Amino acid sequence: MAVLKASGLVKRYRDIVALNDVSLEVPRGSLFGLLGPNGAGKSTFIRISVGLLRQDQGSIEVLGLDPVSNHKEILYRVGYVPETPSFPEFMTGEEYLKLVSDLYGLGRGSRERISEMLSIVGLQKASRRKIGSYSKGMVQRLAIAQALLPDPELLILDEPLMGIDPEARIQFRDLFIDLASKGKTILYSSHVLEEVERVSSHIAIINKGKIVASGSKEELSELLGGGRVLEIELFRDIPGIEELIKGIDGVLEARSTGNIIKIILRDEDKDRIVRKNISETIQSRGGIIIDMRIKSVTIDEIFLKAVRGS
Ligand code: ADP
Repeated sequence: MAVLKASGLVKRYRDIVALNDVSLEVPRGSLFGLLGPNGAGKSTFIRISVGLLRQDQGSIEVLGLDPVSNHKEILYRVGYVPETPSFPEFMTGEEYLKLVSDLYGLGRGSRERISEMLSIVGLQKASRRKIGSYSKGMVQRLAIAQALLPDPELLILDEPLMGIDPEARIQFRDLFIDLASKGKTILYSSHVLEEVERVSSHIAIINKGKIVASGSKEELSELLGGGRVLEIELFRDIPGIEELIKGIDGVLEARSTGNIIKIILRDEDKDRIVRKNISETIQSRGGIIIDMRIKSVTIDEIFLKAVRGS
């Protein structure tokens, strides 16, 4: 079942089309990565999902609700972490969370809940320090603690791992995986392929306001790559070889970096013939193959293909 369902969303800022017919479903319990380069439309989509912005066309349901007309209920049931959270600098982290828990009406037990959240995000030691003295990573931790405070079913985060140190990054990843294993749904945006590939169960790739691919990781590999990449290492690079390889029947995509050529193959059945044709093409150009290996498709190959092909 989908916790978020968008259909034909369009959002314009004057003459800029930020979202161009975006349809997306986020399954319950998924760790959903919205992946795209800067300016792709990720923040716009997220802001519409939490009711901060209204789309020009199309519809969106979050937990079965319209996010704008049910903004209050969404506030309780959806945790939101904006791209650059900001807090009153003169308060301590603990005081701020107390204020938020009072606004949520958490009442009794709020002290325990706050202390639990501070511990989950690793902010106990700094909880009595003024927020003004926090690092960027600590501010991000506080934002996540705040979002988790009302125990939301869905957590939506805009570039949560940007600008934080590698150690905190690993902790957050583990936290997201843990929350998803407890039945929460997590939707987060990122422009970093590696991050999304490692953490997500589901991915949607957005480029220039359009969803170019979406689904579970397995589905994406099937859809775009047939699941396999042939990697060839040459003794030295051959300028223009990728164009020749792309012309071979059964080759979906080829690109080279120095003396390494990555080739996405279309069809497993014809593999041997395709590989033979590729070797012959390389040899006909005087190339020497040092190594040839089959790898499974990674999301970066899918991403490049999707973005290029759009
Ligand atoms: P992302 O989060 O993927 O970087 P955004 O949703 O922020 O993308 O932006 C999508 C496009 O809309 C970009 O071209 C951006 O410049 C433009 N845009 C975003 N917000 C505004 C705004 N408030 N006014 C005008 N243009 C905007």
